[in-house]
Amino acid sequence: MPSQKLKIAIQKSGRLHDDSIKLLQECGIDLQNGLNKLKTEASNFPLEVYFLRDDDIPQYVEDEVADVGIVGENVILEKEKQVQVVEQLGFGKCRLSIAIPKDQEYQSIHDLHGKRVATSYPHIVAQYLASQQVKAEIHEISGSVEIAPSIGLADAICDLVSSGSTLFMNGLREVETILHSQAVLISHNRLHAYTSQLLEQLRFRIQAVKKARHNKYILLNAPNDKLPEIIKLLPGMKSPTILPLAESGWSSVHSVVNENDFWDIIESLKKHGAQGILVVPIEKMII
Ligand code: ATP
Ligand code: MG
Repeated sequence: MPSQKLKIAIQKSGRLHDDSIKLLQECGIDLQNGLNKLKTEASNFPLEVYFLRDDDIPQYVEDEVADVGIVGENVILEKEKQVQVVEQLGFGKCRLSIAIPKDQEYQSIHDLHGKRVATSYPHIVAQYLASQQVKAEIHEISGSVEIAPSIGLADAICDLVSSGSTLFMNGLREVETILHSQAVLISHNRLHAYTSQLLEQLRFRIQAVKKARHNKYILLNAPNDKLPEIIKLLPGMKSPTILPLAESGWSSVHSVVNENDFWDIIESLKKHGAQGILVVPIEKMII
């Protein structure tokens, strides 16, 4: 009898832990009792959560111990397991880059020919160097990769970078970006019909949360003679909502705007006579 719950593996502690929990909570899944255990169950969704080291998650999913997991794309590419990416999650963004001591000259990746590169991603680095026809010695180390050049262990490193401040503090500079990564939801492809249906429900909720994150709800007051221009600026989900204000000659306009266009739109709205502009976060968005 297959489990009647969807089993999800997430990072036990570390950079993806909090955002993974937050995403599940924003999906309306309650994990209150058990955040400090190794395994817990949601009280209001058929979901069992396993807390694991991120490196182990692809293997657990491939072995069907967990049905799905949340992990960085970088880990999946390094481990090469039989799992599929079902959803990009938009957090845990970083890049995998090559860095060298900041005073060292650098023209191209060919400067690493015959050198030693320290990394926790030996597989990805080997593939990348081979694709560039560069032969270098790869030293696999599992942590604190950024100190390898200063202790004489390597000439260059390849590590995850987000702001670049760790590299800077260790006297290194980034010279090549091998890949960009973010957290993703993965699954194995032998889900039973029922767990597959649960995964679809979870994905539906995740998509609603992701869309909401990128959009804002906007309310403003506008003189009626300016409405045609203002409506053109605010496409909304279908079209903006227009409600009359108590003061005659004025309307309240409600719409949804994408965060990328947000500041440009606000400027134009003000120029066209909009007043009392309110911008409100959206919790879920279903189109
Ligand atoms: P674990 O104990 O679970 O093995 P870890 O030390 O391997 O944890 P973390 O440092 O917590 O892993 O990083 C987890 C993931 O967060 C990375 O695999 C990567 O996808 C993502 N990430 C985002 N920004 C960064 C960054 N600046 N440095 C490292 N990882 C980052
Ligand atoms: Mg790890």
